[in-house]
Amino acid sequence: MNKQVVVIGGGPAGMAAAGKLQDFGYDVVLIEKQAEVGGHLNKWYKVFPDFTDASEITANLKAGLGNTRIVNNATVTEIKGSAPKFQVTTSRGEEIEAGAILVSTGYKHFDATLKEEYGYGIYDNCINSVELDAMLKAQSVKTRNGKVPKKVALIHCVGSRDEKVDNNYCSRVCCTNAIKVGIEIKEQNPDCEIYCLYMDIRVFGRGYEELYRTSQEKYGVQFLRGRLSEAGEKNDGSLLLRLEDTLTAKPMRLTVDLLVLMVGMEGNSELADVAGLTLGCDRFYATAHLQYSNNHSARSGIFLAGAATGPKAIMESITDGRSAAAEIASFLVSNQANFDSNLNGQAVTKMAASLK
Ligand code: SF4
Repeated sequence: MNKQVVVIGGGPAGMAAAGKLQDFGYDVVLIEKQAEVGGHLNKWYKVFPDFTDASEITANLKAGLGNTRIVNNATVTEIKGSAPKFQVTTSRGEEIEAGAILVSTGYKHFDATLKEEYGYGIYDNCINSVELDAMLKAQSVKTRNGKVPKKVALIHCVGSRDEKVDNNYCSRVCCTNAIKVGIEIKEQNPDCEIYCLYMDIRVFGRGYEELYRTSQEKYGVQFLRGRLSEAGEKNDGSLLLRLEDTLTAKPMRLTVDLLVLMVGMEGNSELADVAGLTLGCDRFYATAHLQYSNNHSARSGIFLAGAATGPKAIMESITDGRSAAAEIASFLVSNQANFDSNLNGQAVTKMAASLK
């Protein structure tokens, strides 16, 4: 029986799973397409709701990897065989044996240029939430001409809950992320006015609602219920936003120095053909059962974890990775038991034949 597990994707879910599989006594090979493990965490500044440094989380997960063999700068090009005897081929030409495989390939960000009316890629002072986090990390939230912004608008639901871009689902984390970055901007630049333009506020996790309240009561972040219809650039580089306040049903105009699009998550379906995985209606990988088999794919021996199966916060991805590790261990133990009982059966048959 093969006691080796291949984990594809070294973000928080993949690292958490690899660490636990090591603890359970399995050999783990972690295949990561980037030069470093960590996934999107490597880009983030701090993580909601408690403002833990993203680098601290990565360091913690890395420390748990033990003897995991990491194969960087590689993707998976072929998976042959079936459970519990897979052969995984990487883009570096290596063939790796595995008793089970975990797909934890995460997500990609919505391409904001598809919402042309918001001006991303057209106006200098329209940026996305990934770029804002990099500015916060560098303690340098500035407009393109180097000025400290006096007014910043954070636009919720960009590329999520939007039929026009075929993403009907909610990305789940961007409301709380907008609240978190609103607070961070205020901490770095207390005189800046922050406006969150939202459809609904969806803050569901432990400590999230409290963060939402704190952002208003302590930091004065303002929440406007309305969807941005379009942004236009003024001569000085500031942006004129046209929106409808859906609480008062009145059109509104707002001029800001920096417009930040809170981009949603999209499925990373690149392994669908290679691993024989199916996609859900949201184009994230489908699980074997939404209620009780959320770490199983429909293919025996291939498991799923983290944002590969839908938008998740960092903490949820870590928990999901560890849950997948437990499912994989259980799967391999029961395969080992079947294997042992077959061997015993063969030995008994042989012995009986020799006694005849
Ligand atoms: Fe929109 Fe909030 Fe859902 Fe993100 S979490 S898609 S911003 S409702």
